Amino acid sequence: MQQPINKSNRLNNLSYAIRGPVFEKAQQLEAMGQKIINLNIGNPAPFGFDVPDEIIYDMIMNIRNAQGYSHHLGIFPARKAIMHYTQQLGIHGVTIDDIFIGNGVSELIVMTMQALLNEGDEILLPSPDYPLWTTSVALSGGKPVHYICDEESDWNPDLDDIRRKINRKTKGIVLINPNNPTGAVYSKEVLEGIVKMAAEHNLIIFSDEIYDKILYDGNKHIPVATLSDDVFIMTYGGLSKNYRAAGFRGGWVILSGAVHKAKSFVEGFNLLASMRLCANVPTQYAIQTALGGYQSINDLVAPEGRLCKQRDLIHYKMTDIPGITCVKPKGALYLFPKIDLRKFSFKDDEQFVFDLLSEQKVLVVSGTGFNYIKNDHFRIVFLPSAEELETASNRIRYFLEGHRVR
Ligand code: PLP
Repeated sequence: MQQPINKSNRLNNLSYAIRGPVFEKAQQLEAMGQKIINLNIGNPAPFGFDVPDEIIYDMIMNIRNAQGYSHHLGIFPARKAIMHYTQQLGIHGVTIDDIFIGNGVSELIVMTMQALLNEGDEILLPSPDYPLWTTSVALSGGKPVHYICDEESDWNPDLDDIRRKINRKTKGIVLINPNNPTGAVYSKEVLEGIVKMAAEHNLIIFSDEIYDKILYDGNKHIPVATLSDDVFIMTYGGLSKNYRAAGFRGGWVILSGAVHKAKSFVEGFNLLASMRLCANVPTQYAIQTALGGYQSINDLVAPEGRLCKQRDLIHYKMTDIPGITCVKPKGALYLFPKIDLRKFSFKDDEQFVFDLLSEQKVLVVSGTGFNYIKNDHFRIVFLPSAEELETASNRIRYFLEGHRVR
């Protein structure tokens, strides 16, 4: 008998819940003609959040210039525009060679961990997290170690928990700010506490700030790289959310602070960037216009803007259900409600998500899919229209009433 063709051992125990078994089940139902309300993926364009026209025009105008490979770090005008952006933000001393453009932040996250980690090196990650971070650490032979983000303190990272988990193998700390899945925007005190620990223990800070312009109620986002010149910080941003261009696959990472300490790592990162030749070039032509153009995201997050209104609606509808509580998101595109499991007949978040899909054709993602340590949360994306969110929340309410313990 011939040997079966197996995946590599590195992929054992890796999963990606956002597109996992429940997602597959939803696709099967759709193939059978069922209409599913998808509240599972943060992909703005299909919900009528269009990429600004000026970005599209610039890409079309430049398509001929974009026929060949570019420099492996990215085209000059795009990197220059990102460099100017760092100056606006107040991140000091960033040169054009400190900026790497990738096929989305996703590619850069994987490249970072591949370039950095040796077997058994530890990376501190938020729980809950955006799961690609955890998977990338594990895929690269590292050990993901999760620190708690505290629901009681607006989902800010728990500094004591981080401190307890630092040891000689710890290489760095991942921050996701504004946060997916909780919608938290971290306070200055917490960020300063993290910078202090990173400085003491010589840790790298990886700060995923892809939602840095998606802020509600006048909340301010503080890029952690503005708080330190002594720590090596990698700040990730991109086009997918602020500019609704997820399909274009454009992202960047900015190296700042103690870059001199990371010479060998940067060489490795450079090598990986050159091995994949370059990021998608037409998309790179969108970056300068995106960063320098009209910031229409501000209209969407303003009190009368569509995103803010949808956040208010879904937050109101969810917290109006007895047994559901939820911290109001300050930023990003998600709600992370808590289910009081004592009040319902399903056993955990996974069963909730699965049964909700089967019975009510509403697709959400379980909290444990985001490596949350407790099994009583789920994530809702509030990109669909108010009408669709209203229908979805009525169905969630109906479902929960049907499973309430009497
Ligand atoms: N980081 C976070 C926190 C995200 O939520 C996402 C996508 O949802 C990504 C990174 C991936 O971004 P990109 O589309 O640039 O690969």
